[in-house]
Amino acid sequence: MDNALPCIRNYIAGELATPRARAALLDNVNPASGQVYSQLVDSTDEDLQAAVAAAQSALPGWRAMDIAARARHLEKVADLIERDLDRFAAAECEDNGKPLALARAVDIPRAVDNFRFFARAITQFASESHAMGERAINYTLRAPLGIVGCISPWNLPLYLFTWKIAPALAAGNCVIAKPSEVTPKTAALLAETCIEAGLPAGVLNILHGRGSGIGNAIVTHPDIKAISFTGGTATGARIAAQAAPQFKKLSLELGGKNPTLVFADCDWDKTLDGVLRSAFANQGQICLCGSRIYVERSIYADFKAALLQRISQLRIGDPLTDVDQGALVSAAHMHKVLGAIETARAEGGEILCGGQQRQVDGRCNGGFFVEPTLIEGLPLDSQTNQQEIFGPVATIQPFEGEEQALQLANGTGYGLAASVWSENLSRSHRIAGRLDFGIVWVNCWLQRDLRTPFGGMKNSGVGREGGWEALRFFTEPKNVCIDFG
Ligand code: NAD
Repeated sequence: MDNALPCIRNYIAGELATPRARAALLDNVNPASGQVYSQLVDSTDEDLQAAVAAAQSALPGWRAMDIAARARHLEKVADLIERDLDRFAAAECEDNGKPLALARAVDIPRAVDNFRFFARAITQFASESHAMGERAINYTLRAPLGIVGCISPWNLPLYLFTWKIAPALAAGNCVIAKPSEVTPKTAALLAETCIEAGLPAGVLNILHGRGSGIGNAIVTHPDIKAISFTGGTATGARIAAQAAPQFKKLSLELGGKNPTLVFADCDWDKTLDGVLRSAFANQGQICLCGSRIYVERSIYADFKAALLQRISQLRIGDPLTDVDQGALVSAAHMHKVLGAIETARAEGGEILCGGQQRQVDGRCNGGFFVEPTLIEGLPLDSQTNQQEIFGPVATIQPFEGEEQALQLANGTGYGLAASVWSENLSRSHRIAGRLDFGIVWVNCWLQRDLRTPFGGMKNSGVGREGGWEALRFFTEPKNVCIDFG
């Protein structure tokens, strides 16, 4: 153990747990500098047992608590995250490499919104009743599941962590949550916040460590009744297989290879802004990023030139400064993205811009920066157009007419999100109905209303989160039928 580095600890039974004597520690790297700046506990089964025991003893009190009181606890957590916005944003930037301004404007406010939204939603959550004339009445009870597991990725660390934790807690469950081992810091700050907010001990437990270790242990623990997972498709498949023998309830939010359809009748400037953002926001590391850009042939050459011009203006560099793009999350991920660009070259793709690691001087000398990259000339069945790259890399290609646009858009194994850019209302509705994606944006991208169902079709996942969908997932319905005939 390197005693000079701060150590991120687990949050169990309302306290930050002192790591066991011979606890294994993982290094936590700042992707902008390439330097190790803290360590985290790689949790074991023993830690999980302690967390499950804490959750078990907290459960009766939490599930029986008056809904308004439970909601007030969540509101308090939201208020404190909001108060500490700067601290949380700085931690997210340091851990993930994303621009500080993005963490301040999006990641942390969204985490606040998640707690606030579900604190309020639970007070409005009602269940159905079905009258059978003068004979009988049915009503549905929706009870919390008990102890649930929430496992999240590194790209929007606190935002996606709280997206799961908040509805699980609101619905009356106790939670064992695991953030990505690559970005544990804001989860550690959340633990401190929960302590200050007076969240009852054991209601939320946060365990750090590797997915193959503690993540797998959470998935297979018999007392954990459901798993809400966001991450890669291959990991989701593994989790589904491991959870199946216990018939656990699963919500899987997985990868995407999202198409962007640009029609000749689009609003030119709005579309260029939207397409640029959707391809490269957060260094292209958002499951919803539009990484396949299809443009109607009549405007293809002009649109491509205008897009390249905008890409050339993107500022890449130290995420603490005023930049559009920071570092990728890790050296391993950077090499994976650079490898995918090499594959595109080998497949015959023309690299229109970018295509390389970007050297940034000063404190970011050892950082993991990749130039925004646009690739042309690859068929739909190329690996580049079929596999998620999850970096600042997009392909561009012309299409002719709605049918071809749909065939290209729907032609991968994924089905998370699509965006359509057209001022023709009839066309937009027609196409939205035929796109095989869980989310379709028309003339916008990443416009989110937390009440809407969120999730993907095909290899992009199973189930939906958000709004009532999340509260239904985290509760067990029971029908009661009373005969009074
Ligand atoms: P990942 O699948 O490698 O890891 C996600 C989380 O799962 C991490 O906490 C990890 O430790 C854990 N994990 C890994 N193996 C596990 C196992 N066997 N059992 C239990 N837990 C395990 O994904 P990542 O690299 O962190 O994130 C990037 C991926 O996430 C991309 O594919 C992206 O598309 C996807 N993603 C999807 C959404 C969505 O809402 N659909 C949102 C964000 C990211």
